[in-house]
Amino acid sequence: MRQGDGTHAAQGAWDVAVVGGGPAGLLAAGRAAMLGARVLLLEKMEKPARKLRITGKGRANITNMKPLEAHLQEIHPEPRFLRQAFQAFFNRDVIALFEAQGVATRVERGERVFPASGQAWDVADALVAWAEAQGVEILPHARVAELVIHEGAVSGLRVQLRGSTAPRIIEARCVILATGGQSYPGTGSTGDGFHFAEATGHRVEAPRPALVRIETRPAHEGAQGLILKNVETTLWIDGKKQVGEFGEVEFTAKGLAGASVLRLSRRIVEAKAADRKVEVTLDLKPALDLAKLEARLLRELEALRGGSCRHLLRALLPLALVDVFCERLGLEPVGPMTQLQGSKRKKLLGLLKEMRFEVTGHGGWEEAIVTAGGVSLKDIDPRTLASRKIPNLYFAGEVINLDANTGGYNLQIAFSTGWLAGESAARKAIEASPKAH
Ligand SMILES: Cc1cc2nc3c(=O)[nH]c(=O)nc-3n(C[C@H](O)[C@H](O)[C@H](O)COP(=O)(O)OP(=O)(O)OC[C@H]3O[C@@H](n4cnc5c(N)ncnc54)[C@H](O)[C@@H]3O)c2cc1C
Repeated sequence: MRQGDGTHAAQGAWDVAVVGGGPAGLLAAGRAAMLGARVLLLEKMEKPARKLRITGKGRANITNMKPLEAHLQEIHPEPRFLRQAFQAFFNRDVIALFEAQGVATRVERGERVFPASGQAWDVADALVAWAEAQGVEILPHARVAELVIHEGAVSGLRVQLRGSTAPRIIEARCVILATGGQSYPGTGSTGDGFHFAEATGHRVEAPRPALVRIETRPAHEGAQGLILKNVETTLWIDGKKQVGEFGEVEFTAKGLAGASVLRLSRRIVEAKAADRKVEVTLDLKPALDLAKLEARLLRELEALRGGSCRHLLRALLPLALVDVFCERLGLEPVGPMTQLQGSKRKKLLGLLKEMRFEVTGHGGWEEAIVTAGGVSLKDIDPRTLASRKIPNLYFAGEVINLDANTGGYNLQIAFSTGWLAGESAARKAIEASPKAH
């Protein structure tokens, strides 16, 4: 990595300064430099893109090949906001960029795109190399402490560099905030951009952990690690049915996780924050209605006549849930299955179709995959990603009040908004520059 020290600025202001070297910041910086702007990227960690390096369980699900309308359905709270950004730079552009950098890609189940090497590091290194090849100067160990505002417009940054006690002012015609959200703070994303935005008069929707595991009562520690692939998970708030998600659920030590639960977690966290009663139910047999399930149960009872409850339940459930069911139904596992008469049988059917959990909590910032909330969409122009409050200021990536489900959609948001913000800032800066570019 070519590491600058920002001294270029001695010759005058930078055209564009980008705060944050995640995927959004790198795309913004590279695109701005590609258009001829002199660009400085400031990253507070020792190297850019630390979070990108751990995405997709170390494999980086960089985008999704589903069409634009399908992407929009995965995004909250206002997917339409991204139309222009997606028009400027979308999934095929992401793939073309990486392939040009020598990172071959492949499409997997659910149209998710990964590097063929299976290494998120390759993706991160390629992105840094690409930005540098466009002429971006990258300054690591540079923590931006404050935006400098002059006559109502942003004119630079107050930066704390490693090894120096006094902060330094770096001047820039345009500034792009790409500081990410607040989750996985160890990667550098500690919500600084929310404070910068608020301090300069922007509204910030309360940041909340999203795509995160939940804690439940009861929690079935004994079933920890069990993954059920074809389950219908339903969310209930104050006793009212909300939405269902079909797919994977994982039992954890304190509750539930897995794709379906993560998808519901944004709403769960919101409802818990509002002190509402939140429950989830699992339909373990979504392919069978109650009548068919009862017929199946009667068949099993007949076939296994003389056996124990455990015997019978084993025919209907994964092993890890057999004792859980006995406990919930008040059955003696080794006792005869004749215990399952009348109301007990009804209860068993009910439990198979609607296994209920009260949600008591959720994982925190250390384990949330993304941040819901952020800089209000009302204060950002979707055509340029420019601030509506402070001239020459732009936003890109997770700092914006946008987040998406798993599937490569969050990185696509970072790439697309980075590209558009970089383009807009470069045009503005070059226009304003006294020098010919
Ligand atoms: C474990 C995990 C797995 C994930 N997997 C996927 C996946 O496979 N696919 C997907 O689409 N999404 C995934 N995501 C989400 C995705 O990583 C983020 O949405 C994306 O990284 C956001 O990009 P960003 O550039 O906006 O912010 P970030 O990647 O958070 O980058 C922000 C950067 O800004 C820097 N910064 C912050 N404050 C300052 C400051 N004051 N001064 C200087 N620098 C600063 C930070 O150090 C950081 O490098 C995953 C997230 C996690 C945590």
